[in-house]
Amino acid sequence: MLDLRWMNGAPFIHRGGYSNHRSSPDLVELFEYVAAVAPDSYGLLHVHDDEQPGHENDVRVLARCLDWPGHEESGTALDQGPARGQTALHEISRHGHQGADREPAMSASLPFFRYHPDPLASGSIRAASETCACCKGNRGWIYTATFYTAQDVSGRLCPWCIADGSAAERFAGEFTDSYGLDGVSEEVLHEVTRRTPGFHAWQDPHWLVHCQDAAAFVGEVGYTELAEHPEALDQLRADMRTAGWHDESQLEHFLANLGEGASAMLFRCTVCGAYLAYADAS
Ligand SMILES: [Zn+2]
Ligand SMILES: [Zn+2]
Repeated sequence: MLDLRWMNGAPFIHRGGYSNHRSSPDLVELFEYVAAVAPDSYGLLHVHDDEQPGHENDVRVLARCLDWPGHEESGTALDQGPARGQTALHEISRHGHQGADREPAMSASLPFFRYHPDPLASGSIRAASETCACCKGNRGWIYTATFYTAQDVSGRLCPWCIADGSAAERFAGEFTDSYGLDGVSEEVLHEVTRRTPGFHAWQDPHWLVHCQDAAAFVGEVGYTELAEHPEALDQLRADMRTAGWHDESQLEHFLANLGEGASAMLFRCTVCGAYLAYADAS
């Protein structure tokens, strides 16, 4: 769908569609073309990409802006926006079932973690005006979950010191135990344990592996969300039988009540996209 029409005295281009798979980036090229021929233009792009790990249910809103009105002193990523004549797409908000309490705009500036793609949704990283114990900077975001070290760490850590490995190196620590990370390369093992935010769990959090790569942590879920991914539910059921749950009705009762007391830690394979989970109980 593509049309151009005048509304309230200004020309608007509407482009919409619904494709089965990720389409080529020609839509971004269209935005860039419009930016070049109409330098004061602006626009919003609403994207629902169910193939992006961790964002299957999210609608992301990307903005192209020049001299975006009202955001000059907002302290958000938008005020580092493109200079006149340049073009850039900024993620200004995300709406998903887990995203309602998210701060808009700033997530665009966070480092990307391959094995924990949405640490805001999982609660591992939160907006906070707090000094990082590693770089001593106040970056506006702080890490809230596990960090294992024998050293004294005075304060919490910023996402950037996690991403570049400096916090793990400086304090000889790890964010996640290597338990469960069998059959992955040394490089992946180090990325997960030393350069990836851990997460909140009752028991020591651990990572799942699929297709010989670490899976991406999606979040803590209850039965309803787990049941949206039947393969993960089946795999968890099979794992629990192996672990000694032989009473089927007891097992089904436990699964159906996930989210109340016990919960499931949901992951998605970074290679084949399959969902997998383990149960975490208090
Ligand atoms: Zn830092
Ligand atoms: Zn896989």
